[in-house]
Amino acid sequence: MSSTTATEPILIAGVRVSPDHLIGGVRVPSPDRFVTLSPIDGAPLGHVACGGPAEAAAAVGAAAAAFPEWAALGPAGRAAALHRLADLIDSQVDEIATVECADMGMLLASLRARVIARAAMNFRNYADLAVAYQERDWHSKGTWNRVQRMPAGPVAVITPWNAPFMLSTWKVAPALAAGCTVVLKPAEWSPLSASLLADLTVAAGFSPGVFNLLQGTGERTGAALVADPRLARISFTGSPETARQIAATAGANLVPFTGELGGKGPLIVCEDADLELAAARAAGQYDDAGQVCLAGTRLLVQASIADAFLERFDAHVAAHVLGDPRSPETTIAPLIHPEHLTRVQGFVDRAVSDGHALLRGGHRLDGLFFEPTLIAPHSNDAEIVQSEVFGPVLTFQTFTDEAEAIALANSTRYGLSGIVFTASMGRAERIGRALRAGVVWVNTFLVRDLTAPFGGCGISGIGREGGNYALDFYSDLKTLQILEGSVG
Ligand code: NAD
Repeated sequence: MSSTTATEPILIAGVRVSPDHLIGGVRVPSPDRFVTLSPIDGAPLGHVACGGPAEAAAAVGAAAAAFPEWAALGPAGRAAALHRLADLIDSQVDEIATVECADMGMLLASLRARVIARAAMNFRNYADLAVAYQERDWHSKGTWNRVQRMPAGPVAVITPWNAPFMLSTWKVAPALAAGCTVVLKPAEWSPLSASLLADLTVAAGFSPGVFNLLQGTGERTGAALVADPRLARISFTGSPETARQIAATAGANLVPFTGELGGKGPLIVCEDADLELAAARAAGQYDDAGQVCLAGTRLLVQASIADAFLERFDAHVAAHVLGDPRSPETTIAPLIHPEHLTRVQGFVDRAVSDGHALLRGGHRLDGLFFEPTLIAPHSNDAEIVQSEVFGPVLTFQTFTDEAEAIALANSTRYGLSGIVFTASMGRAERIGRALRAGVVWVNTFLVRDLTAPFGGCGISGIGREGGNYALDFYSDLKTLQILEGSVG
């Protein structure tokens, strides 16, 4: 950290984005920098600070110094600041959406209409949830008991490259609402929108150090951050492979860790389902180029309706428009990065060379586009069934009865989400209960109630976020026990 003169902002369609860290309320550059590319045309958008151990230590130090005052504000005091931040996000939707679209390639229309607004909602809802939290009181064994929540301390939040602005707020909002201070390290493939969030925390009047932004790569910056023993929590969203490394460091320091990890969700279509709805939703799993952890990427369709389903599914897929994410007609955007495109192509090539049937797609197109692809595996053990591709690649398998559907659905090491289409309440209940997943949607997809728990089973996650579950994670719970009759 040789210099503290802020670097010239990166300009994206007129929006100014600082490429520096935000540490203790000050923009801090790094001597090392990395390039962020736009998926739209593969062109560099700019150079972003790449923090090392010194910047990581400074960011955690700033968060630790700001913690006592932020914690002492109490839920209502913090709620006022979080509401101001939410209002500022709402007032900047177009700017944030423009930067997110350029840097990550997400569809501009959906960013503007929904995604950024959800980020603002997360801050509002967590502010209100923390205020509404009732401490539990009870009498037992001659004592009066109360469960209190103590803000845990400074926390590290590490996020992936898909939907980075909104996803980061699932963690940053409850952490701040619970009274923790935050160091956010976004992913190096889409780091820019986090810088706008940092600006907005300053504009909202957060004290220096309450929210810090640390830019950089995973292996250098992220690894230095999570190794800091002053952290009270580490909250991570990303791949199981990275989670193993971070969990090992967290374990060595005995720092509680939560991980929202990958998915390989089943999408089950029973013979009594609304076929049109199921086929439309199944084709919708290609949205965001399949770069969605919750996607139902394994289509499991009852054999008796397989042909009818495929015919409708094909019609819906044919209606998809691959193109520039800034265009309102586009429904499938490019993949995030050339390396990711190569990874996706590798999965498909290996599946084809292993003799699995390619039912549609399978090829890369100009730019960073990959065709919506459907593969019918000849074995459930195939890599294409068992591993997360995180691209526009689905598998197609049939089942004869509920038991087989459940066995296939539960046959991977993942367990993040499941989607079921049926007209029967009994089936919905039975299959829903039998699936090993953090969330099961019946006849719908991606609807999320903020108070519900969110997380994964197996290698899809450790711990639960959402509602009071997240507030509990960012708090140390304490039982206060007073001998009855001993105090007046
Ligand atoms: P990733 O694991 O490669 O990286 C995630 C973050 O970890 C990045 O910020 C990266 O810089 C950082 N990182 C990498 N190595 C690190 C290390 N050694 N120490 C500290 N930090 C390190 O994941 P990705 O490719 O960015 O994201 C895609 C993955 O995220 C997919 O598996 C997807 O399913 C998952 N995901 C899960 C959810 C969920 O809620 N369950 C949501 C979105 C994405």
